Amino acid sequence: MIDLKDLDPASLEAFFAERGEKPFRARQVLRWVHQRFAADVSEMSDLSKSLRDTLCTVAQIKAPEVIRDTTASDGTRKWLLDAGNGNAVESVYIPEDDRGTLCVSSQAGCALDCAFCSTGKQGFNRNLTTGEIVGQLWHANRTLLADGATRPWVEAGRAPITNVVMMGMGEPLANYDAVVPALELFLDDNAYGLSRRRVTLSTSGLVPWIDRLRDDCPVALAVSLHAPDDALRDRLVPINRRHPLDELMAACRRYLERAPRDFITFEYVMLDGVNDQPSHAAALIDRVADVPCKLNLIPFNPFPGSEFRTSPRERVLSFQRQLMDAGIVTTVRRTRGDDIDAACGQLAGQVQDRTKRRLSTRIPVVAR
Ligand code: SAH
Ligand code: SF4
Repeated sequence: MIDLKDLDPASLEAFFAERGEKPFRARQVLRWVHQRFAADVSEMSDLSKSLRDTLCTVAQIKAPEVIRDTTASDGTRKWLLDAGNGNAVESVYIPEDDRGTLCVSSQAGCALDCAFCSTGKQGFNRNLTTGEIVGQLWHANRTLLADGATRPWVEAGRAPITNVVMMGMGEPLANYDAVVPALELFLDDNAYGLSRRRVTLSTSGLVPWIDRLRDDCPVALAVSLHAPDDALRDRLVPINRRHPLDELMAACRRYLERAPRDFITFEYVMLDGVNDQPSHAAALIDRVADVPCKLNLIPFNPFPGSEFRTSPRERVLSFQRQLMDAGIVTTVRRTRGDDIDAACGQLAGQVQDRTKRRLSTRIPVVAR
C-alpha cells in the first residue's frame, strides 16, 4: 500500500499519469490530504466513485500513531509518535501571538553524536519516510483544528501551523532523499502552501548537502555552529572533523546566493565555561564576519546524564551584548515547554525511558 503522504507533487502526478489519469487529479488529491487533512480515500468526494475504488486498493493515508500527547503550561504541545521497533519521534507545536510553529523530526535518533544533544546520545535508529515527516504537520494541523483552534488566521481559513522548523530529532540533511520531497509538500500551493521563509531547516553542517539543498529546494537555513574555532567545534559537533569551519562558512556564503532570506541563522548553544567566554564571543565575531547572519543563542537544556551545565543568564546576556555591539543581530531563544521536556535537544528523553532496557547498552555513560 502506498502512503499518499509519501508522494511529492511531481510523484503524485506521475502516479496518476501511470494510471491514465489527468494531472489535475494529483492536485485534487493533494488538497484533500494536505489542506483538508482527509484520513481516508473514501472522503475524496470530487473523485469519481470508480477512481476512489481503485485508489483505495493501492493507496492510503497513514496516520501517525500517537504514543503520548502532552501540553505544557505555556501552551507548547508535544506529540510522541511511534516509529516502530520500540522507537519514537517527537514533534512540538509552539504557539505564538502571530504564528503557530511546528518543530519537526527527520530521523529516529541521530548518528552525528553532538556532545550536548539528547537525540545524539540515543544513537541512530532509522530515517523517517517522507510520509512520516509530512505526517507530523498533517497530524498537528488536523488535531489542532479538531480541538477547535481559534487563531485569527485559522478563522480566516488558513491552517493552524504557519511555520515549520526542521529542528526536532535527527539531522535533516542526513536524510536528504526523504526530506526534500517533504519540503516540496510544505511549499506547494496545493499542499501546505508555506513560503520558503516560513520553512527553516537546521543542520549541523553537512557541507555537500547544503550545496545540494541550495540547488534543489532553498528554504531558510539555520546552521548549528556552537563554537568559533575548529578545536572546540571538533569536540562539540564531531561532523566538524569532516567539514571544518572554513568549508562550512564558504558553503553558507554559497547558500545565500539562492536563499529565501538574505542571512543564515547561526545557532549557538550556551554551555557553562565551555564556549561562553568573552574570548569565544570575540572569535565568533571574526568567524562570521563575511557571512550575512543572525545569531540565535540557545540556553543549554539539560537532560539526564548530560555532562554540561547551562550558562548563567548574566553570561548569556553579556555574550549577546558583545555580539550586538559588533553589529550582529543576536537573539536569545526563549525556552518553551520546559515542564514537558519539549525544549531543543531534550527530545528523545521519553523514548529512552520507554525503551530503557534495549537502549541502555548503547547510551554512552557520561562521567560526572
Ligand atoms: N540536527 C540538526 C537539527 C536538530 S537540533 C542540527 O543539529 O542543527 C536543533 C538545535 O538544537 C540545534 O542547533 C542543536 O544543536 C540544538 N541542541 C541540541 N541539543 C541541545 C540541548 N541539549 N540544549 C540546547 N540546544 C540543543
Ligand atoms: Fe544530531 Fe543535531 Fe543532535 Fe547533533 S545536535 S546529534 S546533528 S540532532
